[in-house]
Amino acid sequence: KIRVTGLRKSFGDNEVLKGIDVDIESGEVVCVIGPSGSGKSTFLRCLNKLEDITGGTVVVDGFDLTDQKVDIDKVRQHIGMVFQHFNLFPHMTALENVMLAPVQTKRATKAEARETGQRLLAQVGLAEKADAKPASLSGGQKQRVAIARALAMSPDIMLFDEATSALDPEMVGEVLQVLRDLAAQGMTMVVVTHEMGFAREVADRVIFMADGVIVEQGPPADLFGSPQHPRTQDFLAKVL
Ligand code: ATP
Ligand code: MG
Repeated sequence: KIRVTGLRKSFGDNEVLKGIDVDIESGEVVCVIGPSGSGKSTFLRCLNKLEDITGGTVVVDGFDLTDQKVDIDKVRQHIGMVFQHFNLFPHMTALENVMLAPVQTKRATKAEARETGQRLLAQVGLAEKADAKPASLSGGQKQRVAIARALAMSPDIMLFDEATSALDPEMVGEVLQVLRDLAAQGMTMVVVTHEMGFAREVADRVIFMADGVIVEQGPPADLFGSPQHPRTQDFLAKVL
């Protein structure tokens, strides 16, 4: 569970997040949409303190990220994050990439990590690619390895920042299918996406952000079907 209260974030005098209040429940799938530069990535990055928080609080599973005493590395172990660019280690195989974090953090022995890694690669449809190096994988396959790698730490929460934006169109579907499966398994997910069809189909709630605030939010049927705010209407008219 994530509780965000009065979240503000500035870069110099540029205030990018201007007071965000939102609660995300366990098992909820929240999609965040909005124009470029509206602060979606910054918001997501504040949820695991990849950005220093200027004001307000972010509480994740009971840990207040703005509390200096909280061990952020420990909190981050419960939060998986997948970006647009996969950042796999090129000299390691798919399986070694997935095994790395659990072994390094001593969460698992090598044997355990190997077994979990193989199971997760199978879960994302890549059982047969365990020994392949990233260079020999397609973009969609690399992104699925990146998702398996995040899942290897058994996170409670998964954050996705435009996980399909860098992919060729024919690869988007296979990655969205993995997200769909995760959602169906009850994973708590915050998904920044340009894929309105996906948001409509999978999200429990859609948040529309613009200029550093949440302009409107609601169930996808409402937000897409009858947006209330002119800014939302405007945005949807352009992207749908
Ligand atoms: P997009 O859809 O293009 O990914 P976004 O909604 O994710 O956009 P952000 O990346 O959160 O937007 O950026 C919001 C604003 O914050 C932008 O004006 C951006 O220039 C600024 N910004 C983001 N990161 C930094 C940074 N590290 N330093 C300075 N300014 C930043
Ligand atoms: Mg972004």
